[in-house]
Amino acid sequence: MMGLSLCLPLEKLNMNENFQAEVLNLVKQIPCGKVTTYGEIARKLTGSVRAARAVGRAVAKNPYPVIKPLQGLRGRGAEPHIPCHRVVRSDGNVGGYKLGVDRKIKLLSEEGIEIQGGKVANFAQTLFRFKEGTVRFVTDRMLGKLSTWLRILGYDTVYAADIAIKNGEEDEDNALATFAAHEARILLTRDKNLAASARKKGVQCVQIETAVVMTQLKELLRHNIPLNLEPVPVRCSECNARIRKVEASEEDILKDKSYVPPNMIGKRDFWVCERCGRVYWEGSHWRNMREQLKQLK
Ligand SMILES: [Zn+2]
Repeated sequence: MMGLSLCLPLEKLNMNENFQAEVLNLVKQIPCGKVTTYGEIARKLTGSVRAARAVGRAVAKNPYPVIKPLQGLRGRGAEPHIPCHRVVRSDGNVGGYKLGVDRKIKLLSEEGIEIQGGKVANFAQTLFRFKEGTVRFVTDRMLGKLSTWLRILGYDTVYAADIAIKNGEEDEDNALATFAAHEARILLTRDKNLAASARKKGVQCVQIETAVVMTQLKELLRHNIPLNLEPVPVRCSECNARIRKVEASEEDILKDKSYVPPNMIGKRDFWVCERCGRVYWEGSHWRNMREQLKQLK
């Protein structure tokens, strides 16, 4: 039963869009001349290779596969091509490709990778591994504010209210614990019973005792969660997706937002959420946060 329940969350929870974006983000990091595996991407994202098939499905939906060898893969402006032909099976078999296996082999060969009998030769030397990631969280509904702070500190934090349970068969506590187990996230909860049942599923869990966000962060430190205590512009505090720097040529993005002071445009760095479009900059809010965080150091 345990194995079965661990396979379900990605189907049951409405996380597919976010998951796919995270997968494709990793695919973009595979350098030319290297390959990685579906399992390696799963391990990087979830801490376990169990999600390899889900990764395979996400890769198969790549909207921008590379069509011609090396097309658009060098230098700036290379996007939006996402080189998913560099993802192969864990035994070195090249696996499938949206545009056909022959095309995949051709693309890899052009990048200097030797293929013999449908497999990558010198597989161990050619395999690209991602650097170990930082901790990731999932939080219960009582911890919305803490979720916001963790995202501002750069942590991938899924908030319970953002997980849509498709068919009310499973209760939310169970879904949260299963989700945390599947994605190897640390579960943060105010609920003693949820903490206990999650631990039974092997989930790393911190039961938060206090209601004020700064003391909640202190609790995490006390539980030896290694927290960065500087705000970093990498993640949307609203929706948890990645944010990216707004280029000088993209001022229209800023002008569209009534909350962006027009006199700041062109004078500061701005970031925009790739999913919800929210715009960020280092304003007084960040300075206040920095001051508060100093007290934790
Ligand atoms: Zn967002």
